[in-house]
Amino acid sequence: MIVLGIETTCDETAAALVERKDNGRGRILANIVLSQIADHAAFGGVVPEIAARAHAEALDLLISRAMREADCGFDKIDGVAAAAGPGLIGGVIVGLTTAKAIALVRDKPLIAVNHLEAHALTARLIDYVPFPYLLFLASGGHTQIVAVRGVGDYVRLGTTLDDAVGEAFDKTAKLLGLGYPGGPQVEQEARKGNAARFALPRPMAGRADCDFSFSGLKTALRLEAEKVAPLTDQDVADLCAAFQQAVVDVVADRLRQGLRMFRDRFGMPSSLVAAGGVAANESIRGAMSGIAFEHGTVLVVPPPELCTDNGAMIAWAGAERLALGLTDGLDFSPRARWPLSEVAKPAPAAPAATAKPAPRSLATPLAPPRGGAAAPAEAKSPPVPDDGAKGG
Ligand code: ADP
Ligand code: MG
Repeated sequence: MIVLGIETTCDETAAALVERKDNGRGRILANIVLSQIADHAAFGGVVPEIAARAHAEALDLLISRAMREADCGFDKIDGVAAAAGPGLIGGVIVGLTTAKAIALVRDKPLIAVNHLEAHALTARLIDYVPFPYLLFLASGGHTQIVAVRGVGDYVRLGTTLDDAVGEAFDKTAKLLGLGYPGGPQVEQEARKGNAARFALPRPMAGRADCDFSFSGLKTALRLEAEKVAPLTDQDVADLCAAFQQAVVDVVADRLRQGLRMFRDRFGMPSSLVAAGGVAANESIRGAMSGIAFEHGTVLVVPPPELCTDNGAMIAWAGAERLALGLTDGLDFSPRARWPLSEVAKPAPAAPAATAKPAPRSLATPLAPPRGGAAAPAEAKSPPVPDDGAKGG
């Protein structure tokens, strides 16, 4: 099957076409991403209203470019998937409404994809990673450790209590006068710096849960910077190195704890999977690979263009859901907040003795509609804020 995927939840406008073969393997036919970084750079973060307008201006063109590149007409696609949340609501509305229009006019099934679910399933598009696995999602808007047990079956083990890890990189860069987005610049500066010069805290390390907190680290860094201001180039490099090392240590500690929790509850994971823009950071990847090895598993990191927001991951998640008969109605509401625990699961298989060959219409959802109906609460998930994307 071929699915068109649309992503507009934050600061990338993206459209892609992905094929899912009958054996479950995936292939990207086209994957076009237009980053809005330049539109937001002057503000040091994503401005929601600017983002929504930029999505509205670019999306139609991007979809037609993707269709041309894949040499694929609307008649050849089997479904239209759009990220329906969580994210900045103006952008989500643009992408989901466009997908609904195509689905209605072309009489195709609509798949309203949870953006976090798309990040969670990307490793299966590139590597056909088997369930279950442990996901570390680290981007500008999200920091989550998730047990991925199947399509629609996610258990969040840990999340941030305040800033996302990418956001902490961005705020550090802003404080030190580096450009936006901050992650790559902080990493570059850190290579020239001495991490031992400044003593920064390792927030949450050693705790029995696997949650994160970065706001104290940010404040500690500001206080250290104020002590040595005005900053020389070497000061900036040393501060970046100290900050990055603190993040690496915290991530390592939290992931070790996440892997322990995973094994206690679900047995051995097939792999440790990274997703989100922060996975581009070499020090963080190095630490993750060591931890995976320690725990007798392997690290899977999708290529950078599939770690950051993109349309292929939405198309792929749409294809995985469509293959299970999970589609959505044209009345599906865009969601600024949408925890993974509220993503619809496939209906449980009927017992073999009573199972009748039920007609399977792709246009008929096999699970209750998402977005409206109350979903069962996730066991022990604390009410923390990382269910929606943030503006800058
Ligand atoms: P979002 O769109 O939710 O902000 P993305 O997946 O597009 O997230 O990733 C962007 C985030 O990743 C930014 O916060 C950026 O600073 C961070 N990032 C990118 N590259 C690196 C890197 N090399 N080191 C650390 N953080 C990085
Ligand atoms: Mg982004």
